[in-house]
Amino acid sequence: MDLGLKGKRALVCASSKGLGLGCARALAAEGVDLIMNARGVDALEASATSIRQEFGVDVVTLACDVTSEDGQAALIEAAQGVDILVNNAGGPPPGMWTDWDREDFISALDANMLAPIALIKALVPGMMDRGWGRVVNITSVSVKSPIPVLGLSNAARAGLTGYVAGTSRQVAGSGVTINNLLPGIHATDRAISLDKGVSDQQGITMEEAKAQRAATIPAGRYGTADEFGATCAFLCSQHAGFIVGQNVLLDGGAFSSAM
Ligand code: NAP
Repeated sequence: MDLGLKGKRALVCASSKGLGLGCARALAAEGVDLIMNARGVDALEASATSIRQEFGVDVVTLACDVTSEDGQAALIEAAQGVDILVNNAGGPPPGMWTDWDREDFISALDANMLAPIALIKALVPGMMDRGWGRVVNITSVSVKSPIPVLGLSNAARAGLTGYVAGTSRQVAGSGVTINNLLPGIHATDRAISLDKGVSDQQGITMEEAKAQRAATIPAGRYGTADEFGATCAFLCSQHAGFIVGQNVLLDGGAFSSAM
């Protein structure tokens, strides 16, 4: 299927590795020119080089922290006129509900709620003026099914989800869609660090921790960044213009519900 994206430009935040990289690669495979971002320069440049070589698209890199005001200002300047925005950042650390103070919540809100909102506010007006745009926010399965040890994530992502629910309906008439992609467990560095948390807490090996977590997924395995990216590219496609304000869950069936 031709997704109709050739020649579009996208800002993909937090995209040197993992799910963000999966989204960047899937968009590049459709002929989308990219602005890629992460804090670490080495992995960012390596991923950008590999995408340029494999897909022949233009890739601009911007090494900065998307959760900081300076980082957001630099990204917004570089991304003027983009057609597609993929919002992403690292997830907050796990812990107990008693662990977190105000500063921890502010950090989580900055990363997983306020950064995407700042980029939406800065870049969606241009998309509306041009009559076409796509925003995909990488959130989490925890929005539908809270993960107790990820209380900071549960809280911050719920805030973004509420914002998107209203905002997506305010901008849809201008040809701009905003949707959320909710990853369940995917095989990325983030999954390894959460496997390690289980391994440390229960005194079991990493393999046992991974097997234990995979056993909670009806598909019987972790998802891949490629699968995740392909869904992102479809949500950005010409065919997805009637999908507005949705929360699309990719979790191998782990969250059991009738709808
Ligand atoms: P990952 O494999 O750890 O990759 C994170 C990427 O984001 C890296 O490229 C990292 O590069 C970049 N990054 C992190 N913090 C950043 C920041 N402040 N500014 C700019 N770039 C930043 O993580 P992932 O598994 O792809 O997860 C992506 C998001 O999905 C996270 O919010 C995570 O919590 C969420 N999620 C993941 C899963 C899962 O199973 N993988 C499940 C549910 C939710 P640098 O470190 O160099 O900046």
